[in-house]
Amino acid sequence: MTWTGDAYNADEDVEYERELNSHGMEADRICDICGNLINIHYDKKGEAYWTEGHNALPVVNGRCCDKCNAEVVIPARIKKYMEE
Ligand SMILES: [Zn+2]
Repeated sequence: MTWTGDAYNADEDVEYERELNSHGMEADRICDICGNLINIHYDKKGEAYWTEGHNALPVVNGRCCDKCNAEVVIPARIKKYMEE
């Protein structure tokens, strides 16, 4: 049996998907800005306590991931306040 780079990557994807789905509802939380899954925050027991994403206003009326919140939404809010 020959291990190829492609086969290895495909296995990684399957594992990742299975882990997301095993926790339930987070699989359908999609960032309204970048379209990626919103990463869930877990407590020390491994229970999800933060599954809804960040408020994405004023960029879009929806939810967004950590990355978009930090890189898009917060700068947009600061800019908005500066202009007002
Ligand atoms: Zn995002």
